[in-house]
Amino acid sequence: MIFSIAKEEREIFTIIEEEATKLGYPAFVVGGFVRDRLLGRQTKDMDIVCVGDGIKLAEAVASRLNPIPRVVFYSRFGTAMLKHWDIEVEFVGARKESYRQDSRNPDVEFGSFEDDQNRRDFTINALAVSLNQYNFGEIIDSFGGLRHLEEKIIITPLDPNRTFSDDPLRMLRAIRFSTQLQFDIAPKTLASIKENKSRILIISKERITTELEKILASPKPSIGFNLLFDTGLLQLILPELAALQGVETKKGKSHKDNFYHTLEVVDNLCKKSDNIWLRWAALFHDIAKPPTKRFEPEIGWTFHGHEALGAAMLPRIFKKLKLPLDHKLKYVQKLVLYHLRPISLTKEQVTDAAIRRLIFDAEEDLDDLLMLCEADITSKNLNKVNKYLEGYELVRQKVKAVSESDRIRLWQPPITGEIIMDTFKIPPSKEVGIIKTAIREAILDGNIPNEHDAAFELMLQEGAKLGLKRG
Ligand code: ATP
Ligand code: MG
Repeated sequence: MIFSIAKEEREIFTIIEEEATKLGYPAFVVGGFVRDRLLGRQTKDMDIVCVGDGIKLAEAVASRLNPIPRVVFYSRFGTAMLKHWDIEVEFVGARKESYRQDSRNPDVEFGSFEDDQNRRDFTINALAVSLNQYNFGEIIDSFGGLRHLEEKIIITPLDPNRTFSDDPLRMLRAIRFSTQLQFDIAPKTLASIKENKSRILIISKERITTELEKILASPKPSIGFNLLFDTGLLQLILPELAALQGVETKKGKSHKDNFYHTLEVVDNLCKKSDNIWLRWAALFHDIAKPPTKRFEPEIGWTFHGHEALGAAMLPRIFKKLKLPLDHKLKYVQKLVLYHLRPISLTKEQVTDAAIRRLIFDAEEDLDDLLMLCEADITSKNLNKVNKYLEGYELVRQKVKAVSESDRIRLWQPPITGEIIMDTFKIPPSKEVGIIKTAIREAILDGNIPNEHDAAFELMLQEGAKLGLKRG
């Protein structure tokens, strides 16, 4: 089968083919680029494997491009990278890897193209396109990846136990691809993840978090988090979240399963927002429910203070996941801390002061907070859902009304009482107030611009109406 090469790629593919031929290296486009193109997904990174020195090939290709790009080396890995237009092209020599039990860092040696294909994680990531003269553009499918793309299935090219024990990060990658592409993981591959799950502990937190973040950035993250839980990986990498799972019943009273509730909230939110930090906030909004859970015979299950404890737990969780400890953490903490506040404002007769406090506390993140609150409605009872939604709409209206009246209250017109008193040589009096109000109303109604000269002119007119003369 021939790969359909887009117009904008033909130039670089042809140059790679010509330079690789000169150097005597067989060359191929491999991995994610081929997969994503066949699926019609956007890709910005392209991996080129050659049987030879990847750095030499990168330099030869760069010298042919216009403008000549800078080539970045990673000599330790024998890779080189250049950027052409907005595509990042990475060059690497074909290699063979062997792994030791205690580390994910492989011993690398040069290998054949087949060796290189064998170390790929999934069949859909082991497709390659030839950049060689004799079969330029032909798809090389050593493990049935084309069929698996069609069948929407994630499966390892070799025995999954070997693939996963060689590099346990691949277990997370399987779940991440399953979430991004909405593909199933083949039963044997999935069983092997369960079996090898504890090997994940040798992987660095940064790499784990990168995969978690990609799951969270997908259209329906619950697919991934359910798989993480079912395979037992979540219990190892984020036990605080796994602890939300389960329902307890006492004296005929049960609470909801807070894990599945959380995943529903995350999915709901993802339909409304791409903001990854808001998505983290949704994932963590009930994180302190397990440690605050109490059974009170009169009321049933309660989780008093889970919002404050949740916010307090976040710095440790962020640190563990190597997430940033800056304003992004503060933002997520703020949303977790206040996620119950808007609902309380839909219930009682709410004072302006309570609304003002919400505006003050949430600052510029108030819209995001309300979005989180709306996503938090997971009731299956449509009447209840509508009641909550109306409540939040009312909160939004009150926020608007209070902000507007505050703006007017705090707003200073260009002509002050002192100027009026000084101009007409009058003491503080009712007339000063009448003139000030007339100026403010004229500006708010848009009859005069909010400027000194126009306001001064109007002051003189209003003064004349009151029989005042300029002193
Ligand atoms: P994305 O770019 O969306 O993260 P990708 O599949 O392109 O997905 P990359 O990290 O860009 O992932 O890697 C490119 C290719 O390298 C993959 O398609 C795969 O063939 C191979 N690869 C990457 N990481 C691994 C790994 N941990 N084990 C085996 N093969 C891998
Ligand atoms: Mg990629």
